Amino acid sequence: MHLQSVEVSQSPEEKFREYLASRPRAQRFTEQQRDMVNYIFSKHNHFDADSLIEDMKREGFQVSRATIYRTLNKLVDAGLLRRLDVGPRMYYEHDYGYPQHEHLVCQRCHKMIEFQSPAIEDVVRDVCRDHLFHFEGHSFVIRGVCNECNRARMTKSRLDLV
Ligand SMILES: [Zn+2]
Ligand SMILES: [Zn+2]
Repeated sequence: MHLQSVEVSQSPEEKFREYLASRPRAQRFTEQQRDMVNYIFSKHNHFDADSLIEDMKREGFQVSRATIYRTLNKLVDAGLLRRLDVGPRMYYEHDYGYPQHEHLVCQRCHKMIEFQSPAIEDVVRDVCRDHLFHFEGHSFVIRGVCNECNRARMTKSRLDLV
């Protein structure tokens, strides 16, 4: 289940190129980086660095570990990706071209369910205003157990009683 994407004027590749060129010391846009940007933005996903490395290798891309880690940081800095701190691993997902949303994270199957809540947005803005805090973004993660895992757990405990 994914949310409706937001319309953006530039492609992720263009936006990243522009970011690299605007650095104090302009950086080269390498072929590996282009492969990475296009791969990541071909589908909306929550992924960590290791799974990205494995997936890209499996699909025949040549990208080094160091490049993946360095480029992920740059993509966050450029506003294309955002980090999601959901436990032992750091996850990433599209920020550019994708609406603000929050996550329910199942502690058993690690599924992430996205949802939007205008009420949460309002509270965040109010709190920032009260503290004269300059808002740059937020991520809200609710940990718990998803419906399927809950059902599986209930079925199992029923079987255990038999
Ligand atoms: Zn689950
Ligand atoms: Zn998400």
